[in-house]
Amino acid sequence: GDGVLVVNKSGKVVLYNCAARRILNLQDDCLDKPMKEVVKNDTLIEMVTSLLIKQKKMVLSQEIHIDNRSYLANASPVVDDGEIIGAVASLKDITKLRRFSDTKSAFLNMVSHEIRSPLGIIEGYLDLILKGIAKDEAQTKDIIRRAKIRAQTLRQLVDDLLNLARMESEKVKRELVPVDLPKIILEVVEFYRDKAEEKNIKVNVSLEKVPAILMDRNDIILLFTNLLENAIKYNVKGGSINIYIKEEGPDLCLRVEDTGIGIPPESRERIFDEFYRVKNEKTRRIPGTGLGLSIVRRIVKTYQGEIKVDSRKKGGSIFSVYL
Ligand code: ADP
Repeated sequence: GDGVLVVNKSGKVVLYNCAARRILNLQDDCLDKPMKEVVKNDTLIEMVTSLLIKQKKMVLSQEIHIDNRSYLANASPVVDDGEIIGAVASLKDITKLRRFSDTKSAFLNMVSHEIRSPLGIIEGYLDLILKGIAKDEAQTKDIIRRAKIRAQTLRQLVDDLLNLARMESEKVKRELVPVDLPKIILEVVEFYRDKAEEKNIKVNVSLEKVPAILMDRNDIILLFTNLLENAIKYNVKGGSINIYIKEEGPDLCLRVEDTGIGIPPESRERIFDEFYRVKNEKTRRIPGTGLGLSIVRRIVKTYQGEIKVDSRKKGGSIFSVYL
């Protein structure tokens, strides 16, 4: 799979393999021609010629880019009787590794930023208290309450990140057991009953009897919890949530409808990306990490399912998971 190209001491091509021909777009008649004429990559030429001209008995390594792909190029001298009589260049395709590493750096950057901002705000609140800026106990409590909300956001972020890491880890052991979906849905709804009541939101559940499906209990709970939490969080006071489970063709469909603020059409694809949050006047004061739906999408993908989002005609969102 690696490309290999050999030149003699005057820099003419004497040997190459199929992979080198493909990677470097070599023509059929390139044997015996100077490498400079047949290879279109200046870095690779520079690596090889510097070995030959400067008589360097060492291996040179560098990442190079050809046609939108990344390669690890190694150039090493061919030594005979103490003298350099040519050089070998090899090219290893590291495009996947490079993309993975770039994504990882971008992700780490985002995470650091997301952790830094609530921490900065908490520090600010603590400073206010230390400097005795709060006039009375009521104001002190107010500052502490605000700091606590930020700390909760931070904890939610860490929980979400741990869940994401769990999803990503190939070692994660899923315990696939026949899951009674309606039963789990009712348990989770019950758990969130108080939170919904705080906003006077009515939760209606319509569950058909459906066959048990093989899933890990934690996965289905995490999936539904994220959808339900959002349906409460992005709902209006006095709104409602409808939850359905039914069979649709060969699929089992879990649907969560809310009467909330809805999602602008241009954001519907992106809400499943890590850290993406809709930013507008309606969402400004609603805390979140932007990770919940990316976790949901990963779970759905694990089970070869599908998730769709629509908006309700009268305002609000509909999330449908097909398993
Ligand atoms: P979080 O809610 O923590 O911000 P999510 O990944 O769960 O992160 O959601 C991403 C974004 O999608 C949210 O910030 C919000 O803008 C939007 N969103 C998700 N669910 C709903 C919903 N039911 N109604 C309106 N907007 C939603």
